Amino acid sequence: MAFEGLAERLQGTMKKIKGKGKVSEQDVKEMMREVRLALLEADVNFKVVKQFIKDVKERAVGQEVMESLTPGQQVVKVVNEELTQLMGGEQSKIAVAQKAPTVVMMVGLQGAGKTTTTGKLALHLRKKHNRKPLMAAADVYRPAAVQQLETLGKQLDMPVFSMGDQVSPVEIAEKAVERAKEEHNDYVLIDTAGRLHVDENLMDELENIKSAVKPDEVLLVVDAMTGQDAVNVAESFHERLGITGVVMTKLDGDTRGGAAISVKSVTGQPIKFAGTGEKTDALEPFHPERMASRILG
Ligand code: GDP
Repeated sequence: MAFEGLAERLQGTMKKIKGKGKVSEQDVKEMMREVRLALLEADVNFKVVKQFIKDVKERAVGQEVMESLTPGQQVVKVVNEELTQLMGGEQSKIAVAQKAPTVVMMVGLQGAGKTTTTGKLALHLRKKHNRKPLMAAADVYRPAAVQQLETLGKQLDMPVFSMGDQVSPVEIAEKAVERAKEEHNDYVLIDTAGRLHVDENLMDELENIKSAVKPDEVLLVVDAMTGQDAVNVAESFHERLGITGVVMTKLDGDTRGGAAISVKSVTGQPIKFAGTGEKTDALEPFHPERMASRILG
């Protein structure tokens, strides 16, 4: 599971300071040195780590005294709150359009888990929010991507809009939205093409789809296992396309978790969901506070 190494290290560090009845500036310094190393080792972006350490130090040293907590506990509370903030603070929910259907564009590099996540998200919306999603197969380049989504649709008993792979993705996306209106689907999830790298053709095409269907949500699917690369990919997509949220996949793998911690701070866009397995129900809304508590123990 992601964060295992980080959690183990930080929990040890927190335990040491938590028990202290008096916390000196030296104690805080020492703790922050350990936290800094642990975060860097977990592959958190170094600028993000630097800012985080600065924020925690300022608060931990100059904080108000709360009578209910020992000084050690107060420092731990500050670390927890700052880590939560770093990952976005409040949970960010998926958009709901004022007028149905809510149009969601799924974007990302090939292999990140976009098609799988489209199916997972459709299932999540139906199961947890009682919605009626339509999935649209607009990845016409990856061999068998259209078929993959159709198969997923059958497996989940979820409608899929497709026009094969000889039609332009813009047209597929537009027609999918029309179909959703006719069929009273309240969400349209458009699975778009990815490439192995961020390139101009990919971005141009995604921009064209975006201006054609004006999505309420542009969700970028990134693979947590790729660490800092995932954050760089997120930055590029956001600069060119303007994403509204991130789905971080493969958090079940033995990733060090750094991408999940850095991405909000680097792009300004929150993680909305986490992928935690290959099965169709392995998708969870991302809760920064719960994640911080899991990491810090
Ligand atoms: P796409 O090219 O982005 O559409 O990628 P796919 O949806 O085809 O997924 C690529 C691979 O990643 C598949 O083998 C998926 O089963 C796998 N995958 C996707 N999400 C997750 C996840 O959260 N955890 C794990 N372990 N595997 C995932």
